[in-house]
Amino acid sequence: MSRRPLLVGNWKMHKTVAEALELATTIKNSIAPAVRADGVEVVVAPPYTALHPVAKRLEGSTVAVAAQNCYWEPQGAFTGEISATMLAEVGCTYVIVGHSERRQHFHETDALVNLKAKAVLKAGLRPILCIGETAAERDAGEMRNRLVGQLAEGLFGFTPEMMEQTVIAYEPVWAIGTGRVATTEQAQEAHRFIRGYLHSLLGEVVKSVRILYGGSVKPGNTAGLMAQPDVDGVLVGGASLKAEDFVQIVRYNEAAAS
Ligand code: PEP
Repeated sequence: MSRRPLLVGNWKMHKTVAEALELATTIKNSIAPAVRADGVEVVVAPPYTALHPVAKRLEGSTVAVAAQNCYWEPQGAFTGEISATMLAEVGCTYVIVGHSERRQHFHETDALVNLKAKAVLKAGLRPILCIGETAAERDAGEMRNRLVGQLAEGLFGFTPEMMEQTVIAYEPVWAIGTGRVATTEQAQEAHRFIRGYLHSLLGEVVKSVRILYGGSVKPGNTAGLMAQPDVDGVLVGGASLKAEDFVQIVRYNEAAAS
């Protein structure tokens, strides 16, 4: 089954509104040929403050907008939080949930990630649910257990219809922002395992679910990762902050062909 390649840039807590608009505009103007020729899907995830202006700037273009987080209630007395419903209103189509930085710095559990993913779907948006093992877990031979735990809890109560709207991002914690990318074999092994486990949970729908790789993705390693049968896209942090790098990542097929 063919799955449309999905390339996502996570800008984390970077970029003023003016900088975000500049980056979004350059990306929009530079990727049109790749989107047309290769049918890839491109998404950028600016910080909350830039979501609305960036979504406006990208209106009618081939680049979609994601938020980096959300709260699970639609509204209420939750000072400082932003709901998925509000994100839909400002033009988001995706929301990243369970990023390892949120798990690490904000103590997000799999149960909270599950609430957020369900809230995203209820708001008519698509969750990009992040999972991944730490270096210690990998070294202890616990990678598979960790991934199973995150998926079982994070997707608790999901139906095949909900899964169809969901993207999974495999991001080994030891590869995020470290410059240490997983080898293509390590990525494919983890992705195949994830797809197999999801299949046991939710059946045939999983053949159409996209599984992204994240962790030190750069222009030079994208084509190799994307050539793996179970790698359907990438979630890019650091390299998505520079238009030139992100555009090269989106055009990975041109690099592979040259
Ligand atoms: C990320 O933030 O999801 C990420 C993968 O970061 P980096 O590409 O910088 O490793």
